[in-house]
Amino acid sequence: MIYPVAVIGAGPFGLSTAAHLRARGIPVRVFGEPMVSWRDHMPEGMLLKSTPVASSLDAPQPGHTIADYCDAAGIRRLVTDEDIIPVETFIAYGEWFQQKLVPELERVRVVSVDRRGSEGFELKLDSGESFTARAVVVATGLYGLAHLPPELGGAAADGPTPTGLVSHSSQHHDLARFSGKELIVVGAGQSALETAALAAEAGAQVRVVSRGRGRVAFGAPPWKQPKLRPESPFGRAWSLWALSYYPHPYRYLPAEARHYLVRRVLGPLGAWWLRDRFEGKVEVSEVSGIVRADVSDGRPVLSVQTLGGRGEELAADHVIAATGYRVDIAAMDFLGHELRTALAVSRGTPKLGAGYCSSVPGLYFTGLPAAASYGPVMRFVCGTEFASPRLAKHLAGAHG
Ligand SMILES: Cc1cc2nc3c(=O)[nH]c(=O)nc-3n(C[C@H](O)[C@H](O)[C@H](O)COP(=O)(O)OP(=O)(O)OC[C@H]3O[C@@H](n4cnc5c(N)ncnc54)[C@H](O)[C@@H]3O)c2cc1C
Repeated sequence: MIYPVAVIGAGPFGLSTAAHLRARGIPVRVFGEPMVSWRDHMPEGMLLKSTPVASSLDAPQPGHTIADYCDAAGIRRLVTDEDIIPVETFIAYGEWFQQKLVPELERVRVVSVDRRGSEGFELKLDSGESFTARAVVVATGLYGLAHLPPELGGAAADGPTPTGLVSHSSQHHDLARFSGKELIVVGAGQSALETAALAAEAGAQVRVVSRGRGRVAFGAPPWKQPKLRPESPFGRAWSLWALSYYPHPYRYLPAEARHYLVRRVLGPLGAWWLRDRFEGKVEVSEVSGIVRADVSDGRPVLSVQTLGGRGEELAADHVIAATGYRVDIAAMDFLGHELRTALAVSRGTPKLGAGYCSSVPGLYFTGLPAAASYGPVMRFVCGTEFASPRLAKHLAGAHG
């Protein structure tokens, strides 16, 4: 049997897209572990940086926001900008959304996707089954895209591992393992600063190493946001408002500008509520760069260049690289070689046209891999509001 659509991914983007496709009456098979990035690849005890208004998965019918989930679960409603969402609540919300709107989810891995002539795509699952779909939506999120800067490679010969000397922040769920240990966290984004604060609270001695002066900074609390600028899910600013509500023209900007904005807008900045948990508890070394990482006496040692241009060495028991994610089609190895080479890409990211369709008709990308085409809002849950209905509409028109 040929299914019209396969959605690969059961995080916020995959679930929201699948809900919109189902509402249009399109038969869809959906694959993945629900909310797994949040459950296994983010630290226990984490709080979401996004506010409740920016943390709902978009649904085709009302009644499925995070506030609706709170009502259904009989817990305190999370609605105002001062309500902070624990990751555990957000995971439970995503699972509730899945059970209500995508109940047929298959907790199976897609091993490969290849083109199959004019019929569409051949998918192989790790259950051993193969089938054909007319269209495929890739919503694999952060999966396989963790970025380790090459200069840290010297202390991670076999790649980053949580039990080795150097790891990536996505490899940790329980930071209590660093209790009584010296830990270096590389990075200055929310993930770096919150990982550092949680590890310090668990009893580790933590130092954040960040590149550049004044990079460790925290946002303003809701009551100190400027009043005369338009509101957006990320705070009050004209740029954030335009990028949140009008991502349509983004893909017509020059490639240089698009890639720069994805990296910079909504870039490194700690949440307002993290400041008190961080300052005075975590040491900060601002450096102009990390030159290399070595191993000495079984411990990782970072050779850094200070802001004044001197060389300095920083040692610890373990280094966590909270250095984010890079989209690279080459790393999406479940996409067959022929498919990957046929895709038009820009700096490793798929070039998307109207309705999130790639240059290969029938192959769609949403979430993080769509950020270079539709803007930084695609890196966040609230991007589902723009992406999911448009993708579903395009797909219904072309393949429904
Ligand atoms: C530490 C951290 C904190 C964050 N905090 C926030 C926040 O506060 N607010 C916010 O809006 N965003 C936040 N983000 C960003 C957030 O992770 C993304 O917005 C969101 O998870 C993207 O959802 P997604 O559905 O695209 O991918 P993911 O949530 O990563 O889900 C990927 C899905 O793909 C599936 N999958 C992958 N490969 C396959 C395969 N081959 N076969 C089958 N299934 C597959 C997985 O099982 C999973 O279901 C944070 C990110 C990090 C790292």
